[in-house]
Amino acid sequence: MNSIGISESSDLFRAVNERIVELAVPILSKVDLIWLICECPNDECTQAMRMTQAEYDAMRAEPGVYAVVPGHEQRELEEVVGRTDHYVLIRMPGDRATPDVRV
Ligand SMILES: [Zn+2]
Repeated sequence: MNSIGISESSDLFRAVNERIVELAVPILSKVDLIWLICECPNDECTQAMRMTQAEYDAMRAEPGVYAVVPGHEQRELEEVVGRTDHYVLIRMPGDRATPDVRV
């Protein structure tokens, strides 16, 4: 069954990642690396990537931006908005959380 929306799996892993960060925050400092799950739209992808809590917070501050393992970005579908050795930041098109009005 492959009829789920493009960001459904991303949203699921996003929820998991939110929980991981929530649990990690009291234990770790802002610069410690946290293992998070790739937020790419492939619902069979469970690869992990590392980012700091500060990086995670900055990513979440951008509406419609998700973090994926390098190589999991799909340039024809998503806009790459950032890149490090550990992860790539992508913006999903038509994300419902994004009031993205371009003129
Ligand atoms: Zn992935």
